[in-house]
Amino acid sequence: MFKKILVPIDISQSDSGEASLVAAVDMADKTGADLVLLNVIADIPNLVANRLPTDYLEEMQESAAKMLDELSSKHKLKSGSYEIRTAHGQTYDQIIGAAENVGADLIVIASHRPDISDYLLGSTAAKVVRHAKCSVLVVRS
Ligand code: ADP
Repeated sequence: MFKKILVPIDISQSDSGEASLVAAVDMADKTGADLVLLNVIADIPNLVANRLPTDYLEEMQESAAKMLDELSSKHKLKSGSYEIRTAHGQTYDQIIGAAENVGADLIVIASHRPDISDYLLGSTAAKVVRHAKCSVLVVRS
């Protein structure tokens, strides 16, 4: 049914999208879909950005890719069946753009940070659900 599943992961969270990744891996196993793990490095205001080293973004992207790589090993993803991506900008916008670029037919996203349990949906998850052109599975976290 699904061919490509995009899994946006917020690596700043200690559980790093475990619940949504488990659900996405299960879905991929059942449907034969490939996975794309994505972390978005959020925009920072110019005033702050100007004070950071020029290679700040590159370093953040490298470290995000490394963390996603570790997650893929932890969840025993088979090589050739997944891809790791990083992006920079407004989080929900980048998630939706990446879904279109990679041709994802499903986005699997966590509902919110686990410690904010009184929210129905976090701000990123809500915007992705509202604006994505493909199906979105929201995993309760
Ligand atoms: P909260 O407002 O509680 O932080 P969010 O809606 O921001 O909730 O986060 C819910 C989910 O959105 C995360 O678990 C993750 O799947 C996705 N997400 C949030 N931030 C990022 C990010 N920087 N990169 C990739 N995915 C993200």
